[in-house]
Amino acid sequence: MTLTLPDFCLVMISGTAGPAVSEFAARHFDSDEIVAHDDAGTIAQRLAARRLVAIAGPFGTAAERQAVAKLAKRHHADAVVIVLAGERAPAKPRHGDEARHVRDVEKLQGEGFRSAIFLRSGADADALSIRRVPTASDQRHDTGPFDIIGDVHGCADELVELMGRLGYRVRLEGAGAERRALVEAPPGRRAFFVGDLVDRGPNAPDVLRIVMDMSAAGQAHCVPGNHDAKFLRWLDRKRVTLTHGLDRTVAQVTAEPPAFHMRTRDYLRSLKSHAWLDGGRLAIAHAGIREDMIGRVAGGVREFCLYGDTDGTDERGMPIRWHWAAAYTGETAIVYGHTPVPEADWVNNTLCIDTGCCFGGRLTALRWPEREIVSVPARMQYAAPSRPLGHPPVRPT
Ligand code: MN
Repeated sequence: MTLTLPDFCLVMISGTAGPAVSEFAARHFDSDEIVAHDDAGTIAQRLAARRLVAIAGPFGTAAERQAVAKLAKRHHADAVVIVLAGERAPAKPRHGDEARHVRDVEKLQGEGFRSAIFLRSGADADALSIRRVPTASDQRHDTGPFDIIGDVHGCADELVELMGRLGYRVRLEGAGAERRALVEAPPGRRAFFVGDLVDRGPNAPDVLRIVMDMSAAGQAHCVPGNHDAKFLRWLDRKRVTLTHGLDRTVAQVTAEPPAFHMRTRDYLRSLKSHAWLDGGRLAIAHAGIREDMIGRVAGGVREFCLYGDTDGTDERGMPIRWHWAAAYTGETAIVYGHTPVPEADWVNNTLCIDTGCCFGGRLTALRWPEREIVSVPARMQYAAPSRPLGHPPVRPT
């Protein structure tokens, strides 16, 4: 049996037979990766440095297990548990064991572990091989070059024009279920969308078509924006309020065939919170990302990537936003959108490329690694901004 683990995670190896647990740990993990369960300092240090930690122990109580899961969460690391059952545990679940097994897994998940693997020590544990894979957002091997495109918000005409300026030939052909985007990309280059494809603007379906057809052809990538996430909730038939321009997207896609809805739902579901690219020199996230979250996976990372640094809501029900980039000191350049600004300007090695196209501003792209900014003006103002353009205030310390 092969077990796939992220190359950055916290692995808890639990079992009642101490020697079997230590032996298992030594077989599958390097000695510097194996840390004593009560050595919180070393565990925290390694997780902060984005290095795998394996902890072996009996972990008899829920409190002990929860403490370990909490440490992982604090560092946005996946927490995985491997349970070594006794050698004489039944090879095949007997009647009733299946339900008990499901309950055991659910209990561990309730304690904060993403997954739980049960193994019999002895032959099963010996035959196990562990394969380590990069976390979903770790695409450092992908060196681009990229044309990173800001919040499109349904502004299809401006998108086609901007892509033309970047050297892409975009044709939209056909109608209804047959409508397709055919794109010729400049040799070697790919588009990378920072998300917020939909809402406010006049033509979300064609924007989605361009992004999805380009992605299917290997010509584009995309991270999700908060508007895309909310639209996905609508596609999933969850309760959402049709505000902040979602009413327009819903009206526009009502004319589209069911296959388009399903394809869009599957596509938006597949998007990863952020991308860490180009040997670690570049990260792309819709609302930005803190340095200690780059290349990590847990829920808090996704929240930040979608909404940025926020604190409840103000008296009008709008989220209170803070200027996270003002405190950024990382070496990874971060390109993001989300906050409409009058001009794309570098702040501490971060660049916001949302220049408010749907509000009558511009649609902006950054060529990477050239760091050249390219933009086109909006054809008109499609929506009124709910607050003035520009970065939010710096969080008080
Ligand atoms: Mn936006």
